[in-house]
Amino acid sequence: MSRKVITRFAPSPTGTLHVGGARTALFNYLFARQNGGEMVLRLEDTDKARSKKEYEDNILDGLNWFGLAWKDFCRQSDRTEIYKKYLEKLLADDMAYISKEPAKEGSGEVEVIRFRNPGKKVTFSDIIRGEVTFDTAELKDFVIAKSKDEPLYHLAVVVDDFEQKISHVIRGEDHLSNTPRQILIQEAIEAPRPIYAHLPLILAPDKSKLSKRKHGQSVSVTYYREEGYLAEALMNFLALLGWNPKTEKEIFTAEELTQEFSLENVQKGGAVFNREKLDWLNKEYLKKIPDIYDLIIAEIKKEIPSSEKCPDRVKRIAPTVLERISKMSDIGRMNREGDFQYYFELPSYEPKKLSWKDTSKETTIKHIIKISEKVSVLPEENFSAEKIKEAIWKYAEQEGRGEVLWPFRYALSGREKSPDPFTLADILGKKETLERLSTAIQMLK
Ligand code: GLU
Repeated sequence: MSRKVITRFAPSPTGTLHVGGARTALFNYLFARQNGGEMVLRLEDTDKARSKKEYEDNILDGLNWFGLAWKDFCRQSDRTEIYKKYLEKLLADDMAYISKEPAKEGSGEVEVIRFRNPGKKVTFSDIIRGEVTFDTAELKDFVIAKSKDEPLYHLAVVVDDFEQKISHVIRGEDHLSNTPRQILIQEAIEAPRPIYAHLPLILAPDKSKLSKRKHGQSVSVTYYREEGYLAEALMNFLALLGWNPKTEKEIFTAEELTQEFSLENVQKGGAVFNREKLDWLNKEYLKKIPDIYDLIIAEIKKEIPSSEKCPDRVKRIAPTVLERISKMSDIGRMNREGDFQYYFELPSYEPKKLSWKDTSKETTIKHIIKISEKVSVLPEENFSAEKIKEAIWKYAEQEGRGEVLWPFRYALSGREKSPDPFTLADILGKKETLERLSTAIQMLK
C-alpha cells in the first residue's frame, strides 16, 4: 500500500542558498535516504523578474558542496505546457474561471485565472505539528495563474508534486499557511495528498526570524563557505537546528545522520542559530582532519609570504594555531590582529608592560635575568616547552607565577595575549629566546 518515498527540495532561485533552505534540503535528503527513496530538485522560477541563473548556480553549487545528491532535476519555467493542461482542465470543469478585473497597477483591465474556492475547512496532519485545521473561506477565490501560460506558485507546486509523485512535502514553516490552498487545488485535480512536515523557523539569537534583510550575508551558505567552515560541520550544525537526537551526542557524520535522523523528533518551536555552537562544531571537525597541520601551514604561508623563509618555525606554530582557531579564515584574522608577527620579527615592546601589575622594574629585571640563566643551561637539542617549564616552574611558584611568567611571555611576544611562554620559547628556539630576554632587560634598564 505504501508509496515509494519521494521528497523534493524546491527552492526559488531568487537569492543565494539560504541556511534555512540548506536545512530543508538536508532533511528532505535524509528522510528520502533512510526510507530507501529519493529526493527531487525542483527550481521554482515562476517569478521571472526575480529568478536568476546565478542564484540557480549558487544553489546547485551549495548542495553539491554538502554532498546532497538529488535524483531528478527540473525547472518550472520548462514546464509551462504541463501547467497549461491542468489549467485548461480546471477551467473546463468550472473549478476555475477567467476573471477580468481592474489592473492593480496603472489603469485598464487584466485577466487572471481564479480558483473556485469551495470555502471549506481543511484539516491535514503534519508529522511535526500534528493535526492542523484552516478555514479557507476567507481566502475567497484566489488567483492561480496570470494566464494559461503564466501559472502562479500554488498551482505549479501542486501540479509538480502530483506529476513527480511526491510522497512527503518537507518544507519551512513559512509555507504552513500555503498548505490549505494547495490541498484545495490537489482535490480539484484529484491528486493524492502528500504527507506534510513543516520545519521550524530558524531564529537569530535575538529570536527574530533569520532574514537576509536583517542579517545580511550571514544567512547565506556561501558566506560560511567563504569563512572557511567545513561542509560536514555546517551540515551537522544544520541538522541540529530543530532536530533533537534525544541523546547527548552532537557530532554526526553524514552516514550517522542518515541512520539516526528522525522527522518525528523535529521540534515545532523556532531553532536558534547559535554561531558559537557552529564554531565549536567546526573546530571538532578541524581536529579530526589527519593533515590539519599541513593545511594550517599552507594557510600561514599564504597569509605571511615572508614566513616561507622559516619553514621550521611555521611548522612549530601550527599546533598553537589549531588551539586558537575554529575555522581556517581565523588564521587571516589572527594575522591581521598581529598574532603572528612576533614569530618572524622582533616584537616591539612597551617596556612598562614587561612588569606584572605593580611589580617594580628592578624585580622584573631580576626575574628575567633568572629566567635567562635557567634557560641558558638547557641543552639546545632538547629545548622543548616541557623542559623549559620544568626549569622555570619552581622559581615561578616561589616568586609568584604572574610576576615571573608575565615578563617571560611579554619579552618573547610583546603581546598581552599569546601562547604561554614555554610554548613560545620552544617555537623561537634557545638562541632567539635568550636574545629577546636580553633585549627586554636592556629596555628596562
Ligand atoms: N519555492 C518555495 C521556496 O523557495 C518552496 C515551495 C515549497 O517547498 O513548497 O520557498
